[in-house]
Amino acid sequence: MDLICNNDKTVISKVDIWFLKDIKDFTARKIIIGLCPRCRRPVATLIEKRITDGQIFVDENISDNAAVKLINRESKRALCKYFKVETKSLSGWVYGVNTEIRNKKGETTQIRQYSSDFLGNKYLVKKQQV
Ligand SMILES: [Zn+2]
Repeated sequence: MDLICNNDKTVISKVDIWFLKDIKDFTARKIIIGLCPRCRRPVATLIEKRITDGQIFVDENISDNAAVKLINRESKRALCKYFKVETKSLSGWVYGVNTEIRNKKGETTQIRQYSSDFLGNKYLVKKQQV
């Protein structure tokens, strides 16, 4: 899943991924963020799963001011951030297995997300705890 700038249709192939806290109706939330190399504007895709029926919602290629607003809003909910991820490995990120590590209170303290490449190799991408 690539990010595509709506202004000039530039494909962004290196992105950051943030794992986000649940909100009232949605879980497994993540946001993919890129900066268009041509116009230098941010582009973001928000992915979340509705708790009631498990349906996955993908709001793709949000650009310009809407992207800035979304990123500012979700930065307060970020649990951890991964940087400079190749978009060719993103299908596993979007729909793959999250491994959450919880403390005794049941709060999520760490999330590991493994991404499988086409050869089925597994690797843990660089991440930062927030
Ligand atoms: Zn652009």
